[in-house]
Parts: sequence; C-alpha cells; structure tokens
Amino acid sequence: MTQHRARFEWITLLASLALLGVYIVWTIIERHASTNEQEQQRLTAQAEIVNSYLTEQLSSIYRVLELVRRNLPEWRESEEALEHANIEFQHHIETLTGIRTLLALDQSGDVIASSRVSLLHQNFSQREYFQVALKDPSTETLHMAKPFLAVTDHWVMTFSLRVVDKNGNFDGMVIASIDPERFRNTLNAVNYAPDMWSALAHGSGTQLLMEPFREGQQGMNLAQPGSFFSRHIESGQEKNLLSGRVYATGEERIMALRTIQPADLHLDAPIILAVGRDLDRVFADWWDFTLSRGLIFMLLCVSSSFLMFRLQSAQRARYTSEVAASALIKEKNAQLEQLNAELTLLALNDGLTGIANRRSFDEVFIKEWKRCQREASPLTLMLVDIDYFKPFNDHYGHLEGDECIREVAAQLRKSLTRASDFVARYGGEEFACLVPKCDFETATQLAEKLRQSVENLAIPHSHSQVSTSVTISVGYAVCVPDQSPPTALIAKADECLYYAKAGGRNQAMGCDCATNTEPAAAAPLDTEQTLK
Ligand code: GH3
Ligand code: MG
Ligand code: MG
Repeated sequence: MTQHRARFEWITLLASLALLGVYIVWTIIERHASTNEQEQQRLTAQAEIVNSYLTEQLSSIYRVLELVRRNLPEWRESEEALEHANIEFQHHIETLTGIRTLLALDQSGDVIASSRVSLLHQNFSQREYFQVALKDPSTETLHMAKPFLAVTDHWVMTFSLRVVDKNGNFDGMVIASIDPERFRNTLNAVNYAPDMWSALAHGSGTQLLMEPFREGQQGMNLAQPGSFFSRHIESGQEKNLLSGRVYATGEERIMALRTIQPADLHLDAPIILAVGRDLDRVFADWWDFTLSRGLIFMLLCVSSSFLMFRLQSAQRARYTSEVAASALIKEKNAQLEQLNAELTLLALNDGLTGIANRRSFDEVFIKEWKRCQREASPLTLMLVDIDYFKPFNDHYGHLEGDECIREVAAQLRKSLTRASDFVARYGGEEFACLVPKCDFETATQLAEKLRQSVENLAIPHSHSQVSTSVTISVGYAVCVPDQSPPTALIAKADECLYYAKAGGRNQAMGCDCATNTEPAAAAPLDTEQTLK
C-alpha cells in the first residue's frame, strides 16, 4: 500500500466525518431554533389567553362603573335612593366576582354610596385617584391608580371614572377596587410547565401578582434598568419575546410580555403581563439531543479512525511481507538463473579445460554445417590428438597429464583467433576444431600452425618417440557441405588423423573433399608464413 493511497483514505474518512459533523451541527442548530420558536409560540398563545380574559374583566368593571355613574344623579336626589344605591352596589359585587368594593364620592371626596357600609361618609379626597379625577377633565378615561397595600394586608387596585354635573363641572367619582389575587386562577390555568410562572404588573412597574406565589414578589418595583419590564416598555411594542436574566427572580428565562390596555376602555395606564419559562428546562431536551449526538459523533470519529489505523497497519504489514516475499522470489530466481547458467556451462563446457565439450561440439558442428550448406561456403574440421600421451601419463602421472591437456587446449584456443572459430575437447586427449569459411590451403597452413604452436610450448616429454617435448598430430578435412551426412566430414578428418599418426606423428595431414584427394601431409610453415 502506497503512502499516497493511505493519505487518500484518511482524507476521504476525515471529509466524510466533517460532512457528518456539519450535518449534526445543522440538526442541532435547527432543533434549537425550532424549540425556541415552539416555546415562543406557546408562551405568546398563553399571554393572549390572559390578555383576552383580563380585557373581559376590565370591560365588565368599566361597564359597571358607567352604569353606576349614569344612575348616580338619580340616587343623589334622596337619602333613600342612596341607600338603595348601596344595595345595588352590593348586588354588582356579588355578580362581578373580580370587584372588591364599589364606591361613589361627591365633589369633596366624601363617600356617598358604598358596597361596604363601613366606608360611608369617610373622606378620600387625599387619595391619589381623587386628585387625578380633580385634575383630568376627561370623563371617558378609566383611571387605574397605582396599587397599594390595604390595611387588610391585601394589594388593592382601583379603577375610577370622573363624574360631572350638568354643566360639566367636577361632581365626584365612582370607584371600583379589585384584589389582584382574583386573577391568580387565570394565571395558574395558563402555566403549562412546572418551571413556568406568570406575573402581572401595573404600568408604573409595581408587581401585582406572581403565579405560582413567591414571597416578596408582590409590590416589587420592576421598572429597573435592563429589567424585562423596562425593556418591554422601552420597545413601545404591545408584545415582546425576550430572554435573559429576570430582575425580580435572577433566573435565566424566556418570557412573553404583553401590554394589556384595551383601546375602547381609555385606560390611562397599562397592565403588563409576563409569561415565562426557565431556559434550562426549555432546552433540557435539546441539551440531551446535543449531548447524545455529540457523543455518537465522537464515538464514530474515534472508532472509525481506530479501524482505519488498524486496517492500514494490517495492509502495511501485508504489503511489507508481500514485498519481502517478492524480493525473496526475485533472489531465488536470480539464484536459479545463475544455477541454470552454471548448469548450461557445465553441460556445454569441459570441466578440465574450460573449453567446449563434446556435446557442445556436436551441436555447433551441425549448426555450422547447415549454415555453410546454406551459404555454400567451405567448412574445415580438424581433429587433434596428443602424441604418446599414455606414456606421458605413465611417466609424469595423471595430474601432470591433466595439466598438459589444459595447456594444449589453451594453446589451440589461442591459435584460432577468429570469432567464428571453435575449439572443443573431443574426448580424452583429443580436440576438434571447426573453422568456417576456410579453404583447403588456409586450412593446411592453420593445421601446421596448430602443430607448431603446441610444439613451441615445449612441455617436456621424455617418453615420446618423436620429440623431447609434447607434440600433436592433426587430421583435417575441408568441404562445402552438401546433402551428404555431416559425419562424413568427421570420418574424413579422422582418417587424416590416422594417417598423420601412422606417418610418424607430430604432423598434420588433410584432404579436400571437393577434389577427393588422398590425405596429404601439410608442409611445415615458412618462418614468414603467417595466418590471419
Ligand atoms: P598416440 O600417439 O597413438 O595417440 O598414443 P597415445 O598414448 O596417446 O594413445 P591414446 O591416444 O590411445 O592414449 C590416450 C591416453 O590418454 C589414454 C589415457 O590414459 C589418456 N587420457 C585420456 N583422457 C585423459 C585425461 O583426462 N587425463 C589424463 N591425464 N589422461 C587422459
Ligand atoms: Mg587418443
Ligand atoms: Mg594420443
């Protein structure tokens, strides 16, 4: 396995993991967005429910106050009528459960009619709502006074309408006080999760109610810098969806805020509703999803990387062993080839002299025969035999005999200089020389040259009957190969060798097959005669 392939596999794996990672991150972001959106929609819907309920309640209060205001001139005509008004007021309170007390004040702030008899003839001219009614000429405005803690330890909110006489002058006011606690059930009904809470605040920032109840929350001033309340008011929007830290509780929350101020009621201050959930709880499932996907992805990364590493290690090991095996095979092949070459050499060469052996001669002879036959050129065969070699062996020993054979072979090889000339050990102490493209005359000179060159070696031979050194006899025959068998040329050369031996040895005798002459002794070479 190449480095390049391993790198490519890693890049492919990492790219796949990166793509998967991107997909997982995308699903996480997508789920976060959808969780957020879903929660916002639910909170907004809950805020709308509270809004419509409170609007309904405020409309009822407005209608009752208007009714009372309309009837007030009639009731003021007599004490009796005013007493009847008290009963009417009580009747209204029983019908409209949200209202705690109904009051009518005259122009000096004295209570002239009340659903609570104990309040009759008390003077409320110092109350904030009376002062507002004195100053604000509008008879349509439903004034919602700042909530206050009543002597009964209850937070109280008052709604009032200005009363004017026939001439339009201030002539008192009608007031309905309510206990914000009345709205607790409504808020409770819209809380759909254990971590959820809802709250109502007066437009001035005073917190009226929080559901579920929490100690110290009622009456808290929410109009603080950066609070949800302030951010909502500052936005000027009727609805807001905000998240962050809640001023009143210090929690991280997502909140739907809603200004409740029905236009047809001419309410001079809004009620601010907040419905919210704990961010951690909202996104708890999302966190589980994110962690599980992250964990799965990490496990996938680690396991796939580990597998890839193991796989590549195994591939590398296999590759290394394959390389080692192929190197071994190569080495063995080389050894085999060398052995083959050696075997061929052994098969074709003579072990003692190093020149071609008889087998090699047989092959080359046939080949040369056919070639010269094709080319119609002469082929010379010389058979060489060492004279009196048996006595040489007997006298000097076989080892010296071997050395002598080697030296004669080397000399013959040296004397035949052309590349096409061929020398082989024919057997024992006999040699065969093939000389292609050589006519009889040249062959005669060459045979004599061979004889002389061996004699010139001057290898001592005290048991030779023709010389004091080793000599050879040469029988040679020359022919242009025709359809006759090649062995005829061997027979002719052998015959010539026989005559050379018989004629006294240490001589060369040859015959030309073309003329079919009798074997004749080659004349000794002149000193000037040289052979190419
Ligand atoms: P001639 O002149 O008639 O050839 O006589 P010669 O003694 O040489 O007779 P011949 O050619 O018949 O003798 C061959 C001898 O060569 C017989 C054998 O002892 C010897 N010989 C053959 N092969 C080897 C060899 O490989 N090594 C040695 N040392 N001697 C060999
Ligand atoms: Mg012999
Ligand atoms: Mg011999």
